[in-house]
This record gives sequence, structure tokens and C-alpha cells, in this order.
Amino acid sequence: SITSSKQAIDLENKYGAHNYHPLPVVLSKGEGVYMWDVEGKKYYDFLSSYSAVNQGHCHPRIMETLVEQAGTLTLTSRAFHNDVLGPFEKFLSEYFGYDKVLPMNTGAEGVETAIKIARKWGYEKKGIPENQGTIIVAENNFHGRTTTVISFSNDENARKNFGPYTPGFISIPYDDTEALEEVLKTHDNIIGYLVEPIQGEAGVYVPKDGYLKEVSRICKKHGVLFIADEIQTGIARTGKILACDHEEVKPDMLILGKAISGGFYPVSAVLADDKIMEVILPGQHGSTFGGNPLGAKVAMTALNVVKDERLAENAEKLGELFRARIQKLVDKSPFVKLVRGKGLLNAVVINDSEDSETAWNICLALKENGLLAKPTHGNIIRFAPPLVITEEQIHECCDIIEKTISEF
Ligand code: PLP
Repeated sequence: SITSSKQAIDLENKYGAHNYHPLPVVLSKGEGVYMWDVEGKKYYDFLSSYSAVNQGHCHPRIMETLVEQAGTLTLTSRAFHNDVLGPFEKFLSEYFGYDKVLPMNTGAEGVETAIKIARKWGYEKKGIPENQGTIIVAENNFHGRTTTVISFSNDENARKNFGPYTPGFISIPYDDTEALEEVLKTHDNIIGYLVEPIQGEAGVYVPKDGYLKEVSRICKKHGVLFIADEIQTGIARTGKILACDHEEVKPDMLILGKAISGGFYPVSAVLADDKIMEVILPGQHGSTFGGNPLGAKVAMTALNVVKDERLAENAEKLGELFRARIQKLVDKSPFVKLVRGKGLLNAVVINDSEDSETAWNICLALKENGLLAKPTHGNIIRFAPPLVITEEQIHECCDIIEKTISEF
């Protein structure tokens, strides 16, 4: 068994593919907002596993559900019915206000699923000639790592030498409704617009107020689908159950993942109304694990925790507090350029160039001071703690960040 961080890292380096560049910390325990490394050092988690553990690490209610269902029934495949799937689909549909759900496992699978449903809708309902359909996406998007999804990424590192790429996508600048109108006016055969309500991986880019409302209006006007990827922004992260709720818009298709199951088990889902979802028939889409009783039960408890513990309200309130405290740093330190975000999805931009090591080095220093965060680009650090964090804890974390940056 592992007795030192070095031993664990050496094993990963030797036996694992090098497809990640983690911060050099080896974690062995999590509880609420805290994680502990192999040597017993305690940290505040300010990444929340890319917003998958909004409910906090090892939430006791979710754990209880997992353990109970693990000893009852875990997987039937969809070759047979099971007694959890129906209740789960009803629960999700009512929770988010859609007619139907298509359950999958990972976020990227959710996005692939939404693309397939949208394309089929385009051909069968909208009458687009076969193989001519186009989906609009935004520049600097992040929707996952599969071959189709990276086909419409503009991150060279994520794309290069993974071609040939899936055609049928067109990219427009993010937060630019004129560009969206323009494409819709000048191109035939548009199926819809796939977009993140806040671009998380790109560096927590928050669009202008009213952007989503205008996107929704434009899509409706042109008879195309507004497809929201809320895999990172959803489940109370930004201070509402969905980021789209801030502007009271309902996307035609909603993609969820990550915190839908509180970090216990991979669950993702696509939600849509009947007029869209009815295009999918037996044999046309699925997954062995999609909608399995273990994940379904876990997700229901994880979503109940979000409401029962008022995590959206907490994220909204403490997000304001966090940004106000960090704003003081911006005013004081020439080093910190700006803070932006919504709820507890925030980023601090360091006054430096994208290709520098500064953000990485600050994250190393934060780690020494007991707080774990990860840069998204050379000069951007994302701060996204579990939403169960308290006011007192947020203040303590701001003290750590302030102290670390002032010593830098
Ligand atoms: N979409 C968005 C907006 C994401 O942030 C992510 C993951 O970071 C994904 C999709 C992909 O999810 P997964 O890593 O579970 O495939």
C-alpha cells in the first residue's frame, strides 16, 4: 500500500498514460470541503473535482444511498427494466421541468447524446436534407474529449493529430449574439446552438447579462435548438440550480453531468421535451451503464441534498463574499488583475501572460498553505469549493489566498 506521495506519483508516472499534469499532491481522504494527503496534511478543496462534488466530499446521505443500493441491485442493462429507472426519470424530469430524460454516464457522453438527438430532430422534424445539418458552437468551448467533441474545439493541444474530424459544426465568438444572428441568416440547415452558459474550462468566462435570454430568443425566432451544456455550471454551482435560471430561460435541450451524482458515481443526462426526445427509437442510442439503478439512486439523493441544504442560496451568498474579498486584492496588488464568476464558480486572472508558469506556481504555494486549486490556463486560477462551505471557512480561505499572493 501507499505510504508516501512520492511513491504514488512514481507509480502513476511509470504505469499510467501521461494524459494529465496534476498538482503534486496525493489525496487519500475527503470530507465536506476538506481533503487530506497521504502524509496527513489537510487542505481546503477549491476545485471540487471540476465541480462534481458540489455537495462536499463523501456526503453521508449520498454514501448511505450508494451503500444500500450497492447491496440491492447495481446493473441490469437496459435489456430489462429495473425498479429505479422509472422513478429516477420522473424525478429528473420534474426537478428540471422537461418531459423526458435520456440517462448516460459521463459528461462527454451526454454531449454526444445531445448532438445525436439534435441531428435526428433536424432531419426528421425540421426537414434538413440528410447529412447537411450544422450545429453552431462557441469559440473556446469545452465539451469533453471524444473524437466528435474535439472536432469542434479550437484548443490546438486537445485536437492536434486526432483527426480526421467530424464535420457539421460551425464556430462563432462566445458572448456575441450578433454573430449568432448572422450565421442563422446566412446559413441554411442549422440545427441548433450548443453553448456553455458560462465557459468553465476556458477560464470562467461569464457572458454579458442578457446573453442567454437573447440566445434563447434568437434560436426560437429561427426555429433552431438552444442546447445548453450545464455539466459544469449546473446543480447549484453558480448560485441557481441552473446557470440558465439567472436569466429565466429554458433551453430546448439541457445536458447535465458531474454534480448530478455528487462525485460518487458517473451519471449524466440529456433532458428535452417530447417533440424532441421522441425522435430517438430503440437501437439508436444507449449505453450498458446508462440509467443503472446504482447511479440513478445516487443521483436522486445527490439532487435532494442540493435542495435540502439550500446549496444554490449558499453559493450565491458566499460567491458574492468571495469576489468582494478578492476584489480588494485586485485593488491592492498589481499582481492580481481581476476576479470574475458567478456563485461559487470563480476565476482570478493573474497579471501575466498565458504561457507563463505563474498561476501554476501560485497553486503550488496555495497547496503549501493548505488550499488546493488548479490553473485553467497559464494565468488563470479557478476557485470552486464545494457548495457546503461556510462563511467562516470562505473567510479563512480568502486569508490563505491573500497571504499566499502577498508573499509571491
Ligand atoms: N462539458 C463541460 C462544460 C465540462 O466542463 C466538461 C468537463 O469538464 C465536460 C463537458 C465533459 O465531462 P466529462 O469529463 O465527464 O466527460
